[in-house]
Amino acid sequence: MKQSRRDHLKIAGNLLGITALGGIAARVFSPPSEDAEFIAQGRRFAWQIDPEKCQSCGLCATSCVRKPSAVKAVNDPKKCSNCVVCYGHITDNRIDSDKIDSCGHHVCPVNAVKRTNFSGGVDGMFLYEQDPKLCIACGRCTSRCNEHGSQSMFLIIRPDLCLGCNECAIATACPHDAIERVPREPVDDYRGDYYFDTSDFYYDMGEDA
Ligand code: SF4
Ligand code: SF4
Ligand code: SF4
Repeated sequence: MKQSRRDHLKIAGNLLGITALGGIAARVFSPPSEDAEFIAQGRRFAWQIDPEKCQSCGLCATSCVRKPSAVKAVNDPKKCSNCVVCYGHITDNRIDSDKIDSCGHHVCPVNAVKRTNFSGGVDGMFLYEQDPKLCIACGRCTSRCNEHGSQSMFLIIRPDLCLGCNECAIATACPHDAIERVPREPVDDYRGDYYFDTSDFYYDMGEDA
C-alpha cells in the first residue's frame, strides 16, 4: 500500500522520539538482575540521572526515600578500558600488579566494586562491576572513574527499585539538576494527526478564478 507523506512524517516522528530517548533509555530499561527486587510501577514516566550533569556528589546515597537508595553505580563494559589498575577500584595507581588483590586499598566503602581477570596474568584484562546488593550509591567509584579514568562508571536510578515518587526526593536535593523524569515509552504528541499535506487537496479554482 502506498504511504502518504503524512504516514512518513508520523513514522519519522516516532523514530525521532525513540532516538532522543535512546541514550538514557538504553541504560534505564535494562532488565533487572535475576534476583532483583521488582516493584511494578505502572507509571508512564521514570526518574533517571543525566550522566552528563551528575557530579557524583554523594547525595544520591542519602536523599532517596528508599534505604538503601534506589540509585546504583554501574560500569559500561563497552567504555571501560579493562585496566590492570582501576581508579574506581583502588586508590593507589602505582601499586604492583600482583599486590592489587591482596594489598590494594579499595575505593568503595562497602567493597561493592568487583574485579575479575578474563585474560589471565596479573597484567591482563580485567572486568570491573558493582554489586547492586552492596552498592549504597556513595558515588566514590563513579567520581574517580570520571575524573581519572575512561568515564565508564556512572550512577543510575534502578527502575525496578525506584518507587516512582511523584516528586523525587533526590531531584529536589540534587545540586546539579541532574535528575529528570523521562517517558518509559515514546510519547505521541498527536501532532502527526493534525498535519496535512496540501497536495492531498485539490482546489478546483475553475475558469471563474
Ligand atoms: S544528587 Fe545529583 S549530582 Fe549528586 S550524585 Fe545524585 S544525581 Fe549526581
Ligand atoms: S564506591 Fe559507592 S557508588 Fe561505587 S560501588 Fe561502592 S557504594 Fe556504590
Ligand atoms: S523517585 Fe523516590 S524512590 Fe525513586 S529515586 Fe527518587 S526518591 Fe528514590
